[in-house]
Amino acid sequence: MGAVSENQVKRFTLSDIPYQRDIAASLGRALAEERLAHAYLFAGPRGVGKEAVAYALGAAALCGEEPGAGCGTCNTCRRVFADLHPDFRRYEAEGMHFDIDRVREILAEAGRPPSESPRKVLLVVEPEKMTYRSDAPANAFLKTLEEPPGRTTFVLVSHDARQLLPTILSRCVTVHFPRLTAAEIEEALVRDFGLGPQEAAEAAARADGTLAGAAAAAGGEDTAALQNALAILEEVAAGGVAEALAAAQGARGREDALALVDALAEVNHELAALRAGAAETLRYPAWEERSRALARGGRLASPERVWEGLARAALALRGNCNVALTLEELFLGMIP
Ligand SMILES: [Zn+2]
Repeated sequence: MGAVSENQVKRFTLSDIPYQRDIAASLGRALAEERLAHAYLFAGPRGVGKEAVAYALGAAALCGEEPGAGCGTCNTCRRVFADLHPDFRRYEAEGMHFDIDRVREILAEAGRPPSESPRKVLLVVEPEKMTYRSDAPANAFLKTLEEPPGRTTFVLVSHDARQLLPTILSRCVTVHFPRLTAAEIEEALVRDFGLGPQEAAEAAARADGTLAGAAAAAGGEDTAALQNALAILEEVAAGGVAEALAAAQGARGREDALALVDALAEVNHELAALRAGAAETLRYPAWEERSRALARGGRLASPERVWEGLARAALALRGNCNVALTLEELFLGMIP
């Protein structure tokens, strides 16, 4: 979603990446010594450079100018960075759900030999969404991880690895991405987000160690969608379905409504994390207090039931439904 998405962040090579330098260096060494694993899991909170490192690794693996490092400027590197290289592919869930068809696409791609490079790198973002409605997509994916085709490296990027099947976890080399330092965030805000030094320092101080948090603190557009979703859930929890519908007025079209469902799912994740006593996995710690107030007191249905409602709504919105009626049904279903 929107402005804080990691894939909109500037691309780097393994040697010039300004954060997660230890991880980048160790991946560079593995590549140089030809002991790259078949599957990596990059695990850590949203907005700590996991995808940036994955792209840098992709460039390093495919670049012919500086093999093993990535020059960052040749035709190969530029196509990796722009998602245009046939041997570097990025896959993500559609909304909240990584469906079996998408997984089959990945498997078909993994089975084909590299087109023009010595190897192939397949980036799979949020594989935890493969178990959203059933385990079938995850199990299909697992088969390929068990017998990875030669010359293919998988990089799985997960913001919440606890949701992955243990069988998937066990097949990957897990790389834990720590939160960024305020200095790293400040530097990124000035350089990549065009903030002034003063503004960047203030946002970095409130950024909870992630670029997502930094963008939120700096008032990114993405935050607006999530703030709106939070406000809608607050209305529903207060018994105001009509008010919630009024707040959702911006989502008249199908696409807008799907984006809203997505944002509601993000907030629901926070509620589920708090219910499970796992505050350390909050994606938006800046809103912990509001999320806690929502998670308390049984004024909303359980996160599991809200998930089900969101999944149903997403499915309906992809079909031929009435948008307003679908949202109304969704909100009513959130009342315990
Ligand atoms: Zn290059």
